[in-house]
Amino acid sequence: MGIARDSGGNPIVNQRAAVFLDRDGVLNRAIVREGRPYPPSTLEELEILPGVVNAIDRFQSAGLLVIVVTNQPDLARGTQNKAFVDSIHGFLQLILPLDAILVCGHDDADDCPCRKPRPGMLLEAARRFHIDLSRSFMVGDRWRDISAGIAAGCRTFLIGDGYGEAFPHPPDAVFPSLSEASDQILKESAAAASSESRIVFDPTQESSCTPSPTSKSRSSPMAQSCR
Ligand SMILES: [Mg+2]
Ligand SMILES: [Zn+2]
Repeated sequence: MGIARDSGGNPIVNQRAAVFLDRDGVLNRAIVREGRPYPPSTLEELEILPGVVNAIDRFQSAGLLVIVVTNQPDLARGTQNKAFVDSIHGFLQLILPLDAILVCGHDDADDCPCRKPRPGMLLEAARRFHIDLSRSFMVGDRWRDISAGIAAGCRTFLIGDGYGEAFPHPPDAVFPSLSEASDQILKESAAAASSESRIVFDPTQESSCTPSPTSKSRSSPMAQSCR
């Protein structure tokens, strides 16, 4: 039996939906100073927010990919080093069933295609993991997350009040926490799946042409930086 191929000769793989998660203020508590959120600067400051582990478990159980997309401009500014950022991500990958963590370590002056509000990290993940962005979700706590999700064609969910910043584009919905957003995401995802008469995802077919995106292993998610 032959494998279906597109016009370029590439195998056609059934696309999956993903939940893209911002890091600071969504997975872990942002450190807020004078109304502005900052990343933890020590491992002691890294506090996973209530309900996050359970929400991600439920996304995985529903067949959604879970991918972290995080701006870490302190790398470009020299106020955090890569070893520290790697240690935070190593810890997150240890305790959360994440499929990947993508990092942009640039600042605005670098004009990088990956720094949110640009959608580069989401587009890169879509290419690598065969993601249908139109059935996917972006969850973040700042306007940059929402704008990146909209630019990628995802549904967008804001966590919290946006720190009083101006939003060029409003989110589709606002929730106090990822835990509370997860109910709506799972509901929408299930409704979209049942309304489509598409072929059911076949993991054996995907594993034949992609290295590891179906892996749910806590020990082998991919972390990649655009730097
Ligand atoms: Mg954030
Ligand atoms: Zn970047």
